[in-house]
Amino acid sequence: VLSAQLRAPRPDAWLHLLNPQSGTGCALQLFHSIVQPMLVEAGMTFTLFVTEKPNHARELVRAGDLSQWDTMVVLAGDGLLYEVLNGLMERQDWQAALQKPLCTLPAGSGNALAASINHYAGNTHVLKEKLLINCTYFLCKGLHAPMDLVSLSTASGKRLFSFLSFGWGFISDVDIASEKYRKLGNARFTVGTVQQLAALRVYKGRLAYLPVETSSSVVPAPGALRSSHGGPEDSLLVPFDQPVPSHWTIVPEEEFILIFAIYQSHLGADFTMVPKAKLHDSSIHLFYLKAGVSRLVLLKLFLAMEKGTHLELTCPQLHYIPVRAFRLEPFAATGLMTVDGEPLACEPVQGQVHDQLCRIISG
Ligand code: ADP
Ligand code: MG
Repeated sequence: VLSAQLRAPRPDAWLHLLNPQSGTGCALQLFHSIVQPMLVEAGMTFTLFVTEKPNHARELVRAGDLSQWDTMVVLAGDGLLYEVLNGLMERQDWQAALQKPLCTLPAGSGNALAASINHYAGNTHVLKEKLLINCTYFLCKGLHAPMDLVSLSTASGKRLFSFLSFGWGFISDVDIASEKYRKLGNARFTVGTVQQLAALRVYKGRLAYLPVETSSSVVPAPGALRSSHGGPEDSLLVPFDQPVPSHWTIVPEEEFILIFAIYQSHLGADFTMVPKAKLHDSSIHLFYLKAGVSRLVLLKLFLAMEKGTHLELTCPQLHYIPVRAFRLEPFAATGLMTVDGEPLACEPVQGQVHDQLCRIISG
């Protein structure tokens, strides 16, 4: 891992993008009490940009002159990093822009990437201020490593870039329903889980995927999806009006409790979905839970997720497959989907992993 890392040349000019509404609304306070003293101690220079509204940071990085910045630091939750990433992908010079390391400093209610990076570094599991201190320390050290990204395309023509997850069903509903409890910080997900258990729903659709195992022996699909939006071409995907390539696997069941694709180890600071995941492992870790599972089993699965032992419960309805690409076609627009924890209207979606597309400050 160390050989893949590079040291950023000094002195660095860092742009800190901060969402004052993140999490419990304390991001600015955390910056002044924890981050700034550590940066000063390390002799770092920085500029602070406080967002005033959603998409403010996205517009700034999409249209702004980035040449003056070496590293863009996001002090917020996963949502603001998702904005910044998609803003960068909308640039003409997206390839060059993605070579600048990004950094996530956790100050939101969902800090999954920060928790994952802390885990990859071999650190013990920590929350809140301790996680922020660890991540600020990584920033001061300045090591960065490549990170895989997933491009997602929808039937209505949207194209999105994702560093964390795509989901439909139970987990996505918890994420969205618990938004109103964001003042609870990370505990919002526990409250949301209990609430959604009471209102358990079935999600009907067709799921297909390209397993990691078979993908290496097969040449790319003939009619690869050309991008009209910039960004890399999706060589593994074909347009929605064509069936998935014949070497893909089509899931026989069509009734699900949840479908969740994650590309990092952690889904939240308290949820370890894939302990073995890496920043770049060319994999989308795909989970699906078939209908027919009791509320009690579902609750047990969620409690096991804290430590990442949910697969050890060998629940027959829970499936896990590492894949390079997937397609999900809902039969009805039930609930919302989520991308990196942010809502997406329910419609057919397909995605594929792009190896080492950006760089991120890591331990
Ligand atoms: P959290 O982890 O608490 O959800 P995020 O950083 O993920 O925190 O931000 C949540 C949402 O807030 C994102 O969708 C982002 O676009 C939006 N946002 C960014 N800046 C602001 C702002 N100044 N006011 C309100 N919302 C904002
Ligand atoms: Mg968020």
